[in-house]
Amino acid sequence: MTASVRTIVAVAVLLASALLLSACGDAPKEERAESGGGAAGRETASAEAPADAYKAGEPTFVTIGTGGISGVYYPAGGAIANMVNLKRDKYNIRATVEATGGSVFNINAVIAGDLQFGIAQADRQFQAVHGIAEWQERGPQKKLRAVFSLHPETVTLVAGEDTGIRDIRDLKDRRVNIGNPGSGQHQNSLDALNAAGLDLGDIQAVEVKATEAIEMLEAGTLDAFFYTVGHPSAAILKIARGKRKVRIVPIVGVDTLFVLHPYYVPSSINMHYYPGAADAGTAVESFGVKATLVTSSDVPASIVYAVTREVFENLEAFKAQQPAFAGLTKMGMLQGLSAPIHQGAARYYREAGLE
Ligand code: GLU
Repeated sequence: MTASVRTIVAVAVLLASALLLSACGDAPKEERAESGGGAAGRETASAEAPADAYKAGEPTFVTIGTGGISGVYYPAGGAIANMVNLKRDKYNIRATVEATGGSVFNINAVIAGDLQFGIAQADRQFQAVHGIAEWQERGPQKKLRAVFSLHPETVTLVAGEDTGIRDIRDLKDRRVNIGNPGSGQHQNSLDALNAAGLDLGDIQAVEVKATEAIEMLEAGTLDAFFYTVGHPSAAILKIARGKRKVRIVPIVGVDTLFVLHPYYVPSSINMHYYPGAADAGTAVESFGVKATLVTSSDVPASIVYAVTREVFENLEAFKAQQPAFAGLTKMGMLQGLSAPIHQGAARYYREAGLE
């Protein structure tokens, strides 16, 4: 992304946040786009800290790891932060968001204590807990805790219309972005290729962030990219309206995916969201996962309780901040979690009768 495009996107995100927050009655004074933050909010208290131990005096800073600024995780993290910051007088918590490389980065940063919360795909949560995929060598990640799940995400394959790519099998010998290594889509694209009978050696694989892939596709230096993202997505809308015509390509005939990987479910993309894309009918079939919020057992229960409570008790205001949240329900937000539920969240679920 060029500096000027990045500035325009950042300004648009900030304007959207300000508009949404004025609807919620407060302003996001603590939100910031990118920082190493989080250290100030790291506490040595264990998960045994009492859930109502709110401190007077110095605020507690918590940082939520998201994804690239043009994805859905970034505004989704902002929406969570907003709900908590609206109650700063009650909890004395200041929540901020950080743009990151995505799911795998967030899980690792949360476990390391560099971030207090992170948004991560449900499949990546499962893999970290069970010590598979990126966590094969380090083994099961025992500190990882689930808080709640968020919007569904679909593995989205976008190709230049002029490439003639109409099926995932047409990616053979093409320049294809499979995602940066810290992203959720990195493994999803490999799984999709394998299920379609292709492997990495069959394509010219590129491993850049989604924002960069969009620029490369527009510039003609990439034929297609994978992006596991919620819909509607501002990034997909942008490229669908861009100067190079694009097509969202179905990922079908990949049934072994669902046999080999229990966390994948069939999913489809509503093409009404993307009127500029090549005509692909009303929906494009693919597969997907859920986005989830994760934390560490080292984060005090009082903080996780506050975050969970404010999102659940104000669910309609929360959903209004992000179009991809439209289908969220309280019960649905307890599904797709494979790590143990953090005890701060569990306390709220018990109180609310959601268990
Ligand atoms: N699912 C992507 C990932 O885990 C991020 C998508 C987004 O930013 O909305 O890396």
